[in-house]
Amino acid sequence: MQEPELLRNLQPIWLSRATEAMARSLNIRDDLRAQLERFFFLLTQAVETGNPEWLDPVLDEWASSLTQTDLEARESNLLSFIREIMQRTIDVCRQTLHEEQALSLIVDIIPHLTYCYEKAAQAEIQVRVSYVSNQLKQVQQTLERLDRSKSDFIAVAAHELKTPLTLVEGYAAMLREVLNKKELSPYEQELLNGISTGTKRLKLIIDDMIDVSMIDNNLLSLNFQPVWVNRLLSVIKNELEPFIKERHQTLEIYDFPGSSEMTFGDPERLLQVLRNVLTNAMKYTPDGGKITVDGRLLPGFIEVVVNDTGIGIAPEDQLLIFDKFARLGNSDLHSSGKTKFKGGGPGLGLHIARGIIESHGGAIWVESPGYDEEKLPGSTFHILIPHRREPPDEKLARLLAPVIGAA
Ligand code: ADP
Repeated sequence: MQEPELLRNLQPIWLSRATEAMARSLNIRDDLRAQLERFFFLLTQAVETGNPEWLDPVLDEWASSLTQTDLEARESNLLSFIREIMQRTIDVCRQTLHEEQALSLIVDIIPHLTYCYEKAAQAEIQVRVSYVSNQLKQVQQTLERLDRSKSDFIAVAAHELKTPLTLVEGYAAMLREVLNKKELSPYEQELLNGISTGTKRLKLIIDDMIDVSMIDNNLLSLNFQPVWVNRLLSVIKNELEPFIKERHQTLEIYDFPGSSEMTFGDPERLLQVLRNVLTNAMKYTPDGGKITVDGRLLPGFIEVVVNDTGIGIAPEDQLLIFDKFARLGNSDLHSSGKTKFKGGGPGLGLHIARGIIESHGGAIWVESPGYDEEKLPGSTFHILIPHRREPPDEKLARLLAPVIGAA
């Protein structure tokens, strides 16, 4: 007897055994018997023609009925269904036919069942991949929502704090004026100074929060003007000089090719970048350490390189520190002073620096052999400022024509 004929004869017994076994073990489908009947018919056609694609319609139907619940439950999935069919088919052949007939039929059937298994595996992987990527999309949407509400919170909090702070500043100034007319004791003077330092620090933090919310919402607008890097650096040097002395540190600023070139940028914002990076260099370098500022002229960019002999930054943190509120746990938790060794800040300085530099069209990054408070490997910050010889808009070009001509 030919194999397809043999198969057809086996159909009733295969059907009842397969239906019974699968209904019990896999706990699925009400119309299981009808489905299996169709499968068996197509399997017979496949064996008869030698073409396993006969089985495609039923396999595609099963694959498309794979649901998320199937995947989550990790049972009654298509692969175990096909595996069960394979097992039942081989059992029925062995138990019902002579050994030789069983063997020859199994040899004929196996390639078709293997085909089913491969197709089922592919279908299941596809469904799983789209299930996982859907889940990833959901997680990403949740994260984006969280980040948005964090930004909204920062913006609202900063603006709400600014109004009472301005009041405190105003009243403190008036109080100082009134009291200045009298002779103040050192204690009274100290109290007044305390209010003034506190409000100044709070103002800086609130300004940073407003900058962060502008950067995160792409609202940072730059006021382009002619800028010279060496002039910005000398402003910073003057600002930092007293603190450098206090910390017994050395600050060396070199004249490098590019430092005296004119470029267009926002001087206030670029000062803020240099101030943040240099203040950090001081903060994360112990007393007596050295900070150098050098650089070079690159095609289209002026590169400023700030190097310190401080505690360094671990490779895994070198990207992280540019995220907002990134603090590495190597600085004090409480904001204890802008230039004190490891005196922590709110963790906004580098995020703002990156926002400003990127909106200029530049880049900022750090290199460091690692973090070590004893060996002090140091850190090197690279700041790429675009070298713009032309003002970014025509109106400004007309306005600045005499200045640029004179420079
Ligand atoms: P913070 O207000 O904490 O200084 P920043 O955004 O300026 O915030 O810096 C983020 C973190 O990056 C700091 O808390 C510190 O851990 C690390 N960091 C920044 N600059 C340096 C540096 N020059 N050397 C070592 N660590 C640094």
